[in-house]
Amino acid sequence: MRRQRSPGNTTAWSCAPGSLRGYERDGAVADPIRRLTQLLAKLPGIGEKTATRLAFFLMRAPESYAQELGQAIMETRRSMRLCSQCCGLTTEATCSLCADERRDRGTICVVAHPQELLAIEKAGTYRGLYHVLHGVLAPLDGIGPEDLKIAELLRRLQASAVQEVILALAPTVEGEATALYLAKLVKGTGIRVTRLASGVPIGGELEYTDPATLSRALEARREL
Ligand code: ZN
Repeated sequence: MRRQRSPGNTTAWSCAPGSLRGYERDGAVADPIRRLTQLLAKLPGIGEKTATRLAFFLMRAPESYAQELGQAIMETRRSMRLCSQCCGLTTEATCSLCADERRDRGTICVVAHPQELLAIEKAGTYRGLYHVLHGVLAPLDGIGPEDLKIAELLRRLQASAVQEVILALAPTVEGEATALYLAKLVKGTGIRVTRLASGVPIGGELEYTDPATLSRALEARREL
């Protein structure tokens, strides 16, 4: 038995495919789609093709989904703020990591972005505190020390009994420059500065590892 389509449940997209062409021809109607596609294409890792696919998916999806997605984006943005201590993202004045008395207060791991903090936490071995810079030094893009949470880090180091600062910055040109800059500043306070070892990834093949990574791995070799 064929189910009858109820007009109330149909969207502009559930009618015949031919109607899509007409939709695109109509500039006034197509503009919102173009705008949505352009906005989606600004998301990291999303090219124009994927943005178009996502835009059309959102048009076909139930209205409640689009509403919930929009609301979740706005609510997350409104409720998130920077932790008063580590500058990580939180909904409280102090994040749960900084508030956790069991964490080792003598060590601060410096990361560029909040998502890197999450990645290290996920690894589950680090028990110290963090500091999020919110970027790396990039003079060509006009990002200098005053654009990062460096002053906040130095204030923290002066006010607490930190013994070690771990620089967990990516081994890129900007990451290296930021690490060197911070190392100089922190060493002036007498606190030990270390950085993450670079090496061969677990499960990786030696013959395909780039020479720079291999020489770093050799430098950072350890006793078995
Ligand atoms: Zn915090």
